Amino acid sequence: MGYVDEVLAKVKEKNASEPEFLQAVEEVLESLRPVIEANEELYKKNAILERITEPDRQIMFRVPWVDDNGQVQVNRGFRVQFNNAIGPYKGGLRLHPSVNLSIIKFLGFEQVFKNSLTTLPIGGGKGGSDFDPKGKSDREIMAFCQSFMTELYKYIGADTDVPAGDIGTGAREIGFLFGQYKRIRGLYEGVLTGKGLTYGGSLARTQATGYGLCYFTNELLREHGMSFDGMTTVISGSGNVAIYACEKAQTLGAKVVALSDSNGYIYDRDGIKLDVVKQIKEVERGRISEYAKRVPGSVYTEGCSGIWSIKCDIALPCATQNEICAESAALLVKNGVKAVCEGANMPSTPEAIETFLKSGVFFGPAKAANAGGVATSGLEMSQNSLRLSWTFEEVDEKLCGIMKNIYKNASEAAKEFGMEGNLVAGANIAGFMKVADAMLWQGI
Ligand code: NDP
Repeated sequence: MGYVDEVLAKVKEKNASEPEFLQAVEEVLESLRPVIEANEELYKKNAILERITEPDRQIMFRVPWVDDNGQVQVNRGFRVQFNNAIGPYKGGLRLHPSVNLSIIKFLGFEQVFKNSLTTLPIGGGKGGSDFDPKGKSDREIMAFCQSFMTELYKYIGADTDVPAGDIGTGAREIGFLFGQYKRIRGLYEGVLTGKGLTYGGSLARTQATGYGLCYFTNELLREHGMSFDGMTTVISGSGNVAIYACEKAQTLGAKVVALSDSNGYIYDRDGIKLDVVKQIKEVERGRISEYAKRVPGSVYTEGCSGIWSIKCDIALPCATQNEICAESAALLVKNGVKAVCEGANMPSTPEAIETFLKSGVFFGPAKAANAGGVATSGLEMSQNSLRLSWTFEEVDEKLCGIMKNIYKNASEAAKEFGMEGNLVAGANIAGFMKVADAMLWQGI
């Protein structure tokens, strides 16, 4: 048995009850085969694969808080510090009822490679809770965030571990978390990113993941003699990533015709009116179904996976993991999709990715395509350390440069190892090599 298979078997045995984590590890290790085989003796002797698939530490804790009826509620909190070979742990906090250790570990593992790809000095981690912010009052959100940070603060710091937002954790939650950290530590430091602009946040961080996704997609299209101009585009989700992907895609000339949330999707053949979406989602925190009530000619359909039956040139999945299954991928291909780039983390199942790659669809994997968020978080950390702020244009320009570089590095790594055009392999290889090299230099 080769080294990769040996480690895969061990990881499966040790983490049998963690399907999302196993899915992520399998996907990465499979694509690293050519690199590992070329240096098998060195990597095996130093147990690089065993070490890279085992988090440095995983922290789980109780989060008690009091709801508006005076009832005590208890949630579970997580922080998985995966790998800090190239910099402090960095990765978001997800607040969603589906959160469990497997999901946080998969996200933390992917984050290691993604952060490496950004070319910035940041390691990988992830955290969150099974708390559901939906329908909670601001006071309840604050109570939860304060309790969560009362435990988390022991493990994080500006040079140790710098969490950020993710699903369910936006500006409001980051504010409450930062306030509590500052109170307990008596320290004003850049311990979180995605902060408000009045207290150390970076301009363009809100837009960064969505904009970055479009900069990356644009590079991919450009290399194949295309652009967003006139392209019918479908975007899933209607949260932070989806909204700003829609905004940039429209600026670059795309016609975005659909968005969704976890209940269903809207189709507007005249092109999505983003101001209406922002009002519903960012101001009213309402459902996407509202859009169809407000915009004549648009249609709302219950159930979110149907969005992939809409004919489009470009698909940007920006909602959640495993939202494109094999059947949805086959439908997209049948309807002539040219490019699929992932804004969400692991939105395509392995079968869906295989369908895209086999059909010649240009495919941008999440860890490269959505790295703009964490890259701009890295830029927020730099600004905090320098104690100054860059303008929106300065940050946006740096973001655009980083996304172009990520595309170039992933594309060149794929070519170097004989898999030209396979950005899944290219992103994993480019991300892995830097981290593995740092681990080798640092010893065990
Ligand atoms: P938000 O919470 O702002 O939005 C998530 C969106 O996805 C909402 O519209 C939500 O609908 C929808 N959604 C959630 N679960 C499902 C589901 N099971 N089926 C269909 N739709 C669903 O999160 P973000 O926009 O920040 O994150 C979206 C994705 O992008 C995640 O995978 C995240 O990890 C990833 N990402 C985010 C980054 C960032 O900077 N924000 C950076 C890199 C990656 P509803 O309102 O009904 O829940």
